[in-house]
Amino acid sequence: MADYTKPLPRIDDNTDADSRAFWDAAGEHRLVMQRCTQCGHIRWPIGPVCTQCLTEEFEWQTLSGRGELHSWVNFHQPFHPEWAKEAPYNVALVKLEEGPIFLSNMVECEDSELAVGAAVEVAWEDATEQISIPKFRLLQD
Ligand SMILES: [Zn+2]
Repeated sequence: MADYTKPLPRIDDNTDADSRAFWDAAGEHRLVMQRCTQCGHIRWPIGPVCTQCLTEEFEWQTLSGRGELHSWVNFHQPFHPEWAKEAPYNVALVKLEEGPIFLSNMVECEDSELAVGAAVEVAWEDATEQISIPKFRLLQD
């Protein structure tokens, strides 16, 4: 855990409340998103209003953490020096059961095992004592 050197979200007094709620839940290994209390839309990324009905009202919903691999690419050119040692690495789009498409990485598998539509589940990467990052693994069986 102490060896984590990649960029991390900054969580401090300047962090907005919505981002803080997301990262606080992630620290407890819960994937949460804003659910519109007017129309039920699960909105991602975090935002001040519902993208479907424009209301500001929402509640945090804990998601299942399951979905399917929507697409992925392999980055051969790292976009940050701290990722260079892992290149090439995959960058994946996961379509969550609840609807949103989430940008992450597939872990605990070889890229050759990846297939569009494969069932996946969240796999938490504990970067620090405070910060856990949602990655995804292939769901077996
Ligand atoms: Zn709405």
